[in-house]
Amino acid sequence: MDRQQEFVLRTIEERDIRFVRLWFTDVIGTLKSVAIAPAELEGAFGEGIGFDGSAIEGLSRVSESDMLLRPDPSTFQVLPWRTDAEHPGTARIFCDIHTPDGDPARSDPRNVLKRALDRAAAQGYTFYTHPEIEFYLFKGPLVRGAVPEPVDYVGYFDNFPGGTTHDFRRTAITVLESMGISVEFSHHEGGPGQNEIDLRYADALTTADNVMTFRTVLKEVAGEMGLYASFMPKPLEGQPGSGMHTHLSLFEGDSNAFYEAGAEFQLSRTARQFIAGILRHAAEITAVTNQFVNSYKRLWSGGEAPSYVSWGHNNRSALVRVPMYKPSKGQSVRVEYRALDVAANPYLAFAVLLAAGLKGVEEGYELPAGAEDDIWSLTDAERRAMGIRPLPSNLDHAIAIMEDSELVAETLGEGVFDYFLRNKRQEWSDYRSQVTPFELHRFLPML
Ligand code: GLU
Ligand code: MG
Ligand code: MG
Repeated sequence: MDRQQEFVLRTIEERDIRFVRLWFTDVIGTLKSVAIAPAELEGAFGEGIGFDGSAIEGLSRVSESDMLLRPDPSTFQVLPWRTDAEHPGTARIFCDIHTPDGDPARSDPRNVLKRALDRAAAQGYTFYTHPEIEFYLFKGPLVRGAVPEPVDYVGYFDNFPGGTTHDFRRTAITVLESMGISVEFSHHEGGPGQNEIDLRYADALTTADNVMTFRTVLKEVAGEMGLYASFMPKPLEGQPGSGMHTHLSLFEGDSNAFYEAGAEFQLSRTARQFIAGILRHAAEITAVTNQFVNSYKRLWSGGEAPSYVSWGHNNRSALVRVPMYKPSKGQSVRVEYRALDVAANPYLAFAVLLAAGLKGVEEGYELPAGAEDDIWSLTDAERRAMGIRPLPSNLDHAIAIMEDSELVAETLGEGVFDYFLRNKRQEWSDYRSQVTPFELHRFLPML
């Protein structure tokens, strides 16, 4: 047993932990959990805990359903909302999924990201991400068939004295920090009841785990307060959607490979090639970064979400934004990808973003000219003249582009790629067969 594993076992004893939840994620990004007694954990560290993988979306075929969960001791945390004087302690630990032969399962999203990170590491790079997570707070409980009611009607950065969202953010951030997740900023966002909490940058595996924890913590805290936290990309018609803009950077050891003093926007050649890779492959990866029918309602109805493939310095209409540079902070040079939404599977989304950027570096792609205009206000002809292409217009379009993508197939691996496409085609076909209130109203205005 290694030192981290010993530390976990000791903490379990000291904190009187009675339940250890083993956490892992399915292909669509749903968090899965199975609780074991602490006495089982030592064995889990050793040979793993067996479970029926065929019960989990996209994990394994029925014919090879036995899988093993191997806890990653570096992710052990006590769950503060389940642990107090009256309740026996509960902790969680993220797991890697292994096949019965002991090999990492290629269908495990955490493994997909690890493979992408290994590829970057072989070239000397560590990939860091910093997600800005937007979400809506609705009054709970939600009522079937009704439009959800936001907790307030204030907007961007508003300080709303006595407002519920201050209390909510304070409690949520306190819980996140007690679980080792550092928060950088938090504020009210543009929509009614819409908020944002930004996580401090860390290596992409840690931030992907943190996004999974974040979604769970926020749902728990909201539930305690009689609220509902929603990560739906576009829950309210006519109001901004919820994105997960993510800042990306590559480090070589301690130095930021995106930084070059004196270069335009302090962007190194590597950074320019990385942005070029993301732009060239943006349409192919969109089904992964924006995986639901509803994701495209966010991308195509304003509210500061990107719709076109472009980059710019400090340009919020661009898909890739290079944030304002602070001369004292060369190490903080990074690029912000603005399409990603908060309902994505973070492991898969970070993996395809890294793969696209790295492809640009490996192949030495040339970065096209940046856009300093407001891209939303240009005409189609102007955008065409500038070589600015649209993102996919809906899930069907995004799937069709992803299907032909070697980059995505290679990054996700055959099993996840096939399952993902099957699942998304089904979602599109379920959606397409709906007769919506919009159509009824167009044809039968009295309804
Ligand atoms: N809510 C917007 C989006 O969907 C982003 C607003 C902002 O710039 O933070 O991407
Ligand atoms: Mg925001
Ligand atoms: Mg942002």
